[in-house]
Amino acid sequence: MNKFTNYGGDPAPVALNYRYNADWDSDDWRTQAACREAPPDMFFPVGSTGPALNQIDAAKAVCRGCDVQSECLEFALATNQEAGVWGGTSEDERRRLRKQWLAARRRRLQGATAAAS
Ligand code: SF4
Repeated sequence: MNKFTNYGGDPAPVALNYRYNADWDSDDWRTQAACREAPPDMFFPVGSTGPALNQIDAAKAVCRGCDVQSECLEFALATNQEAGVWGGTSEDERRRLRKQWLAARRRRLQGATAAAS
């Protein structure tokens, strides 16, 4: 552990004492990712027009055959991955989806708070 991390030890010296306990970040889904053998550049095209469109389409084709597409998309939405193709979605598509995802999460949290009170 270096001085910038804190996964259960003493408080970190700076504001990096984030507790790492989210279910969506279990490594299980990554081992099943169809893109593990694909060139990383394919999933991180430069831009979203012109030749990048072909790259995005190629990456999405890999995602369509991926067994962990929903886990990947959930991770990307939860961690606000802004760049690249994740879970079969482009950056623009994910930006729109994230607004819906955040609204749904807010409703869930409000429901849980109301049920607990
Ligand atoms: S959904 Fe796409 S980006 Fe996500 S793990 Fe599968 S192949 Fe990779």
